[in-house]
Amino acid sequence: MKRILITGAAGFLGSHLCDRFIREGYHVIGMDNLITGDKKNIEHLFGLEQFEFLFHDVSKFVHVPGNLDYVLHFASPASPIDYLKIPIQTLKVGSLGTHNLLGLAKAKNARILVASTSEVYGDPLVHPQNEDYWGNVNPVGPRGVYDEAKRFQEAITMAYHTYHGLETRIARIFNTYGPRMRLNDGRVLPAFIGQALRGEDLTVFGDGSQTRSFCYVDDLIEGIYRLLLSDYAYPVNIGNPDEITINEFGEEIIKLTGTSQKLINKPLPVDDPKQRQPDITLAKKLLNWEPKVGRAEGLKITYQYFKSLPQEELYKDIDGKQF
Ligand code: UDP
Repeated sequence: MKRILITGAAGFLGSHLCDRFIREGYHVIGMDNLITGDKKNIEHLFGLEQFEFLFHDVSKFVHVPGNLDYVLHFASPASPIDYLKIPIQTLKVGSLGTHNLLGLAKAKNARILVASTSEVYGDPLVHPQNEDYWGNVNPVGPRGVYDEAKRFQEAITMAYHTYHGLETRIARIFNTYGPRMRLNDGRVLPAFIGQALRGEDLTVFGDGSQTRSFCYVDDLIEGIYRLLLSDYAYPVNIGNPDEITINEFGEEIIKLTGTSQKLINKPLPVDDPKQRQPDITLAKKLLNWEPKVGRAEGLKITYQYFKSLPQEELYKDIDGKQF
């Protein structure tokens, strides 16, 4: 049985990866310090012999007993609210955490895939973004702690590949959505759905003309799975190129939820990228992969998930306090 370490296992993407690799017959070691992850996301795995959980902060030396075939580094805060609240941890998990996991992968002779992000492109001046674009990032803005940690992550991962010959993979992940997203972490989809469910107006930041391209989680996981098993060490964009303005997105959520509320405008956060769309030509060619789930279908499933949560979850802020 192949053994895989998945960091950020209790998070949105990490927990879906645990499910997928269990289904593929791997022994999965999930690691998380539960700062932004939630044990509920992996509760259903705890009884399985194929699964074990290690409570650990990967910014500190990482020890995993036994052999390892693969490491997936998916631990990181991933919302602008988190970066503001825990900027130092955000920097540490992407830099020191990645260094520790590269060291672990080297010691175990394992292949490692790191979760990078479209944020490495910053507020992009090239559209759509392809892997050759170097980006337009403000290192000292509120997003800098995430963006620069991820850029460092790519650099050190590549250095381990070229200097140590380590088998490495880099996924540049674009906006992804689906069940197990946190309801109140400020990301646009849970924000809009939460507002609709509470009967509040939907808050559009800025004039809503900025764009994003949303990928359903199952498609994303398939892309990651294929990239891990590929033999390509350079960064690969994984995302859905179906681009939409935030205004249009808000209208879709209003229709989906049947809410009688409307869109209202709030100030645009600092350094909020104006447009974002992955060029996935490389992933298509290399991995024979492209997203299959359209927004209508994906949003329906995600809405059902949020609707099925206990009512009190709707009124919890990011710290778990009732409001
Ligand atoms: N956004 C919004 N209202 C909200 C939350 C976010 O209009 O309540 C906007 C945000 O300004 C950004 C887009 O939605 O332009 C996506 O934001 P998110 O935080 O989900 O992801 P990111 O900016 O990291 O792509």
